[in-house]
Amino acid sequence: MVLKILAAITLVSALVASAAAGILVRTTPYGSFSAWFFPLLVLSAGILTFAVLERRSPVFGKIFWKGEPGRNRVAITFDDGPNEPFTSRILDILKEKGVRATFFMLGQNCERYPGAVRRIAAEGHELGNHTWTHRVLPLKSPAAIAGEIARTSDLIERLTGRRPTLFRAPHGWRNPWVDREARRAGCIPVAWTLGVWDTDRPGVEVIVRRTLRGIRDGCILLVHDGRGVEDGADSSQLVRALPTIIDEIKRRGFHLVTVSEMMEAARR
Ligand SMILES: [Zn+2]
Repeated sequence: MVLKILAAITLVSALVASAAAGILVRTTPYGSFSAWFFPLLVLSAGILTFAVLERRSPVFGKIFWKGEPGRNRVAITFDDGPNEPFTSRILDILKEKGVRATFFMLGQNCERYPGAVRRIAAEGHELGNHTWTHRVLPLKSPAAIAGEIARTSDLIERLTGRRPTLFRAPHGWRNPWVDREARRAGCIPVAWTLGVWDTDRPGVEVIVRRTLRGIRDGCILLVHDGRGVEDGADSSQLVRALPTIIDEIKRRGFHLVTVSEMMEAARR
């Protein structure tokens, strides 16, 4: 929220400053263009930045980032796995609590831990594609983006017999081709409602507090069982926070569902 206010203030001041600059330049002998030139330039840059960096931005196409309220549903999503031993510990917890979740996996990590991918599928969780390398997509060409997605879906399908139908861009950063290539590969682009910065390892209590403070009806929660393609990245804080998070979400009367189940509910 604070970030959004700061961004709005920055954009408005940039517009005012550029308008003033536009008027000044126009009155010099060099100024042959309109006073609107600078403000329009700043505005376009602002919209482009928003489109690329804001995960929920509809500029490059509609994206699913929250469920419909009124259905008491929450979806937990795990990104950047599989990553052992943490993915297996998470699967143990989900099994014990009788909960299904969604895993947005990196192809490179699936190659490293094929057994974990098979277990995720076998235990009824949803499989999502999170690219092969976790590289920044806005800097990539349509062909490179398509390659990242296809290679990952191919491997997941080979391991589990199931092809992912959901795609999440690394960091939620997109360009005009990301959503298009994901859809061509048969995946719906998905973002998230609430991120709790668990990869910064802020402590178990902080992860629990941030999560429980932000959980709402229709929330898609983003947490991580890995960190990029780092092998064995320490996700132990999230693992320790998870049982409390699940218990408290249930206590508040929410049903824990997969992302596809949440989409289904939103459509009905
Ligand atoms: Zn990620």
